[in-house]
Amino acid sequence: MTYLLARVENFSRFDGENLSADPVMGYGRSGKVPHEIHNFSVASDGFIYGYLPKEGGGDLSRLGGYRGDAEVSNVTVIFISSGVLCGYYRNATVFSHPIRHPDKLEAGSSPIYCRVKVQPENAFLIPAGNRHDELQPRPSGQFPVLYGNEDSAWVGWFEGLVAGIQKTFRSEKKRRKWTNSVERSSKARAMALHKYGLRCECCKITHADNVRASIFEVHHKVPYAENFETRQLKISDLAVLCANCHRMIHRMPDISDVNALIAYLK
Ligand SMILES: [Zn+2]
Ligand SMILES: [Zn+2]
Repeated sequence: MTYLLARVENFSRFDGENLSADPVMGYGRSGKVPHEIHNFSVASDGFIYGYLPKEGGGDLSRLGGYRGDAEVSNVTVIFISSGVLCGYYRNATVFSHPIRHPDKLEAGSSPIYCRVKVQPENAFLIPAGNRHDELQPRPSGQFPVLYGNEDSAWVGWFEGLVAGIQKTFRSEKKRRKWTNSVERSSKARAMALHKYGLRCECCKITHADNVRASIFEVHHKVPYAENFETRQLKISDLAVLCANCHRMIHRMPDISDVNALIAYLK
């Protein structure tokens, strides 16, 4: 197996899916739309097509292929931003020459070219609030991409981390399932509305009449990948939010933090 590590500096604030949100991946600061914005979005053909810095293609002999190959498969691609691990692909196919995104996507007004393709189940994006793992050892000097194999020190660093991250991903999946079932339960909704009233905890909107009060939803505030397996549902884990605020809080790095959303919306 071979490894390609790519620096995608605009990833520092990118949290996937939420392509219309502002600010994401530097929107609002530079005003430019970075090419890696689609690196974790599924294309209409069911694959993910990723942008890599232009140094990441060309001679594929560095990735276990032959000089002149058009593509090489079974590559682990690692994304680093500000020296921190943001996400990775397993069993990816890397192209020697950039291809146009199949959905003809653009960044701003320039076409997006991709150098890597992967099955969605092999693409892992670390949530923006959980990116703390600094590349070890730090390479000296500037590098847009690094090539490696099992013997590379930074590959050892990566594989060590991923063992832990995979566990977190599995646990997070279960946590989401639990949260979804709580939020859809009419009993939890009744409990939360009875306790907290017909008022959004975030934007403070209130409605008493039956029709307007239908905007209120119950939100389950269990933070990302916290050990919930033995945890019981508590009324203090519930919040009443309007449908707008509820949708937004699920896009925040920590879904348990209503105050963070209040501060964000100020
Ligand atoms: Zn609200
Ligand atoms: Zn919720």
